[in-house]
Amino acid sequence: MPFIFRDEPMQHIQTFKDYLSKPQKMVILTHLSPDADALGSSLGLSRYLKKKGHSVIVIAPSEYPDFINWMPEENEVLVFQKEKPENSAQFIQEADTIFCLDFSSLNRINELGDMVRKASAKRVLIDHHLEPERFADFEQWDSTAASTAELVYQLIVELGDKALVDSNMADFLYAGIMTDTGGFRHSNTSYKVFQVAAQLVEIGANPYKVSKLIYDTNTIERLRLTGYVLAEKLQVLPAYRTAYMVLTAEELKRFSSQNGDTEGLVNYGLSIKGIKLSVIISDRKENIRLSLRSLGNFSVNEMARTHFGGGGHRNAAGGQTTMTLEETVKKFLDLLPSYKDQLSAE
Ligand code: 5GP
Ligand code: MN
Repeated sequence: MPFIFRDEPMQHIQTFKDYLSKPQKMVILTHLSPDADALGSSLGLSRYLKKKGHSVIVIAPSEYPDFINWMPEENEVLVFQKEKPENSAQFIQEADTIFCLDFSSLNRINELGDMVRKASAKRVLIDHHLEPERFADFEQWDSTAASTAELVYQLIVELGDKALVDSNMADFLYAGIMTDTGGFRHSNTSYKVFQVAAQLVEIGANPYKVSKLIYDTNTIERLRLTGYVLAEKLQVLPAYRTAYMVLTAEELKRFSSQNGDTEGLVNYGLSIKGIKLSVIISDRKENIRLSLRSLGNFSVNEMARTHFGGGGHRNAAGGQTTMTLEETVKKFLDLLPSYKDQLSAE
């Protein structure tokens, strides 16, 4: 039986507080290819829970990009794909509580998903993605929140522990909010976003430092990849108000592309006047990855979920296929006529 119900989190916050009152073994899990919100919210929460006397390990299914490697301390994050699988399995099996942050479906964490399903721990979901799988005992879920970091901050405040948020934690949470709103520019940039960000700055987050660390630590290869993609690979289909880019494995290798390097590229498509849908399709060898962005009511969550085994938010989603790159591109292009009405609507 759930001990707190999603629809009434405030009513049951005392139950959750009581539940957290004795020291526990805890695991915090986040999604594949963690971004700044995934890692920032996980580390913010883990530092908080440690201050409350719990023993906590953060597990990331795969490597995080270099531009967020200033966040974790040594051995603070266990990267599943880099370690022996038994290590993560043991933490998950022995945990009293497992927190799942910034994802809401267990198949987004590959093999780890099954381990979580079988674990005897209580499961806590903190997330803002659409259509969550109902696997958790406690859900702090709000798809109107711009970031998971915002929800972690809110939870700590609701638990009466705002005073425990220090300037490091504030930097991590601020980083999650900043990146998931695209630097306070996307349509999810609400009044609450600024309120929480302001409170984090009051606590000691440094917006200048965080934005320099995240946005201004490009490698030359990464910049050249951007130049190459914009000059040679960006395609525009005015009839569908769509921009798309296709990257082969060879191209990614040529620019020494690392995980996370194509993040942001897809947004250039949307910066073209009149474009409503932008997609980057890249050959990641193990699968073909799609990153989708849209403007207004056009739901890339629906497109990714229905056709590309993925999901996300209305205006930002991802997916993957096990087809070839060419087949995936064809599938995407063949789909566009069925979306034409939605794409041409204002
Ligand atoms: P990105 O394009 O930056 O990888 O992802 C955009 C958004 O969609 C992020 O919020 C991300 O968490 C979500 N997302 C990306 N890939 C998937 C996926 O395969 N499944 C689901 N449910 N969400 C995804
Ligand atoms: Mn997020």
